[in-house]
Amino acid sequence: MNNNLTSSRQAEVTIRDILEARKRIGSLIKKTPAVESFVLSERTGRPVYLKLETVHDTGAFKVRGAANKILSLSEEEKKRGITTYSTGNHGMAVAFVAKKLGIEATVCISNRVPKAKVDSLKRLGAAIEFCGESQDEAGERCFALVKEQGLTVIEPFDDPYIIAGQGTIGLELLEDIPSLSDVIVPLSGGGLLSGIGMALKSNDRSIRVTGVSMEESAVMYESLRAGKPISLPEKDTLADSLLGGIGLDNQYTFEMVKRYMDQVLLIPEEEIAYSMAFMMDHHRMIMEGAAGTGIAALLGNKIEDQEGAIAVIITGHNVDLSVIQHVLTSYSPS
Ligand SMILES: *Cc1c(COP(=O)(O)O)cnc(C)c1O
Repeated sequence: MNNNLTSSRQAEVTIRDILEARKRIGSLIKKTPAVESFVLSERTGRPVYLKLETVHDTGAFKVRGAANKILSLSEEEKKRGITTYSTGNHGMAVAFVAKKLGIEATVCISNRVPKAKVDSLKRLGAAIEFCGESQDEAGERCFALVKEQGLTVIEPFDDPYIIAGQGTIGLELLEDIPSLSDVIVPLSGGGLLSGIGMALKSNDRSIRVTGVSMEESAVMYESLRAGKPISLPEKDTLADSLLGGIGLDNQYTFEMVKRYMDQVLLIPEEEIAYSMAFMMDHHRMIMEGAAGTGIAALLGNKIEDQEGAIAVIITGHNVDLSVIQHVLTSYSPS
């Protein structure tokens, strides 16, 4: 869904956009650490680095894209206010950046968004509108607000500024990880993978980019198979941050994911659960199911062996305590 009325469609996101994004967001967003996981390095026989996007104030990477987009709005647009729809982390990112910059934000979310995320949104001071059972319904409400109140929509992924903002992760990986050859990226709408893929491949085409999603409702995966954007019903998953459509009139990420992703893996729910518990057990680290998909790809030996280091993007840690309890109950250490 790209109804951005204020800027005309830009042909393509370039590495220059990502370099500019890095400068633009520098005052709001700090570089995140890439730490080696000795447990995972031992298991895979290759150096494995965890890119900790969990250390952002909102507990997920989406502040990068949100900051890049919002900072690039005109003063007039900032004054009228912004709105967005989101499974949670993008909404939180928009609310956070808006608060920092003194801009009014209205977040439209579906009734399926987990309670922990709703509570955080409220704490960030955003106005919240609950609407329907899917991200698409939340999106409709959001565009109604554009018409009624002249707000600017901050798209969750299908926007050049959002993609460039997420792409700054790729620049940091290139700087911090020696002989990087594999990057594992949780995949939903594909803003994250588009940006990271573009940053990595414009530096070194041989770096392999793997997208990871849950098995059910993997809309980007099914769209790539169909050769065009399609929509699917949302099924419950531990990787709730990966739910949502890619927009039937997708402008950017469908083509970019097609270009920059070398392979995609679908991860069963039990493996996501196991990976979340494994990381608590071995690293005392909490991550949400979306990030667990990348760990599961490693633990399940799904990444074909090659020379060089592997980076897994630990995209977020916003997970309800009840979910943590659930995955620990069914976990047996190995
Ligand atoms: C949004 C999100 C993703 C996927 O990002 P896309 O740009 O939509 O592909 C992955 N993990 C977490 C935690 C997220 O919030």
